[in-house]
Amino acid sequence: MCGILGICGFEDVSSELVNGLISIQHRGQDAAGVLTYSDGRFRMHKGTGLVSQVFRKVDMSVLEGNIGLGHVRYATIGSTEAIDAQPFAVNYPYGIAMVHNGNVINFVKLRKVLNDVYHRMVETSNDVELLLYTFATYLQEKNLSHIGIEDLYETVEFVQQTVKGAYSCITYIKGKGFLAFTDPYGIRPLMMGRKITDKGTKYIFTSETAVFDYLGYDYVRDLEAGEAVFIDMDNKLHSRLLKRKKEAFCVFEYIYFAREDSVFRQRLVASERVRMGKALKERVEESGVKPDIIIDVPNSAYFFASGLAEAMDVPYRRGLAKNRFVGRSFITPNAELRKRVVRQKLNPIRDIIKDKKIAVVDDSIVRGTTSRHIVHMLKEYGAKEVYFTSASPPVKYPCIYGIDMSVKKELIAANCTIDEIAESLGCEKVIYQTLEGLRELYKDLPICDACFSGEYPTGITKEILAEIESEKLKSDRV
Ligand code: SF4
Repeated sequence: MCGILGICGFEDVSSELVNGLISIQHRGQDAAGVLTYSDGRFRMHKGTGLVSQVFRKVDMSVLEGNIGLGHVRYATIGSTEAIDAQPFAVNYPYGIAMVHNGNVINFVKLRKVLNDVYHRMVETSNDVELLLYTFATYLQEKNLSHIGIEDLYETVEFVQQTVKGAYSCITYIKGKGFLAFTDPYGIRPLMMGRKITDKGTKYIFTSETAVFDYLGYDYVRDLEAGEAVFIDMDNKLHSRLLKRKKEAFCVFEYIYFAREDSVFRQRLVASERVRMGKALKERVEESGVKPDIIIDVPNSAYFFASGLAEAMDVPYRRGLAKNRFVGRSFITPNAELRKRVVRQKLNPIRDIIKDKKIAVVDDSIVRGTTSRHIVHMLKEYGAKEVYFTSASPPVKYPCIYGIDMSVKKELIAANCTIDEIAESLGCEKVIYQTLEGLRELYKDLPICDACFSGEYPTGITKEILAEIESEKLKSDRV
């Protein structure tokens, strides 16, 4: 998962880009970058780490330009090194810069064609190179001295036909304009906003609407599956639906990835989580347990837990204190240290949990590692019984669209029954939402739920699945 941002305005946009990236920092903490365009050239700064670290010592006047792209990277596949940080740019056949969010699934074949047939040097393990080179190569093959909007739409259509997987892209073509497009299924989000100024309308494209609130833009709409939006050099907006398949928006954006104050497809993430929490009531009742209190795993599970508590009329309590300044546990090198980091990060509040039967609510259970530590801590601090409750169904299949769940053997629900999971976590019960329950909640929104159902909207072959697993294991960060 990554975060992307593009702004097309009338004065320098670099500060807005950096500030906007900070508001989507949760989408990627491995690397960050900004590219602007002015005086006939691209200006770029990128590096590894948080946005604040990457731009701490940068003189922003160096990044002048009224058009720019920004990116925060979470390396699901590929390295976490600076060479893989986005944006990327090429000089031929035009100056083209691009950022993307998602994952290309036919990367082996594409890399080979670009290398062997078109003699492009694919130098990094970042998918944006494949998208950018496919885009640039198509324009190059057309050999146009003047490209118009129809040529650009045709190029996007070619990319959508050739590149398989999930991608939302923002690109700038020197002297031509600003272009945003999605894959034919609209799996990853791409939102459009604008700001009316004295000089005209400024346009912004990004992964989450929270950026609009933060930078003072109005949310216009989501890009649709297979759509391209183009802002020409006269600042005129054009859009067209190109290669479009049945939409399949990633439901995990609502479950976990996105900020609670973001909106996708007119639905506020916080409200979606409350709705999912309320829907868990039926599952908890079916299981026969009667919790004294409901607690959340901070911070993403708060809205699920409060929704469940409201529906069940059982008190919600904050049972785990969170230290916001401790790093992520999964990048810690060994199990013992990981355990200590989880303990530093989350600590049970003894008086709240002692002698209680507790339903602890989380957004999902992926590997089970953190859930296990939480159950152990709650028991250690005197919980009478613990029911670990997941607002989403069991994650049984790898995500091949850019989320860090691409290896089946790491997914606890792919390898154990629900009773075995409860035993492995050390709790009395594990309660999941069901796939049918989730689908009922989203019957009026076409979603991707492949990590729960195994039904991949793009289709998948065993070979591609194996290639993705092997690429993931090469860049392993578990
Ligand atoms: S497989 Fe799961 S995480 Fe991946 S895009 Fe689909 S819903 Fe989202």
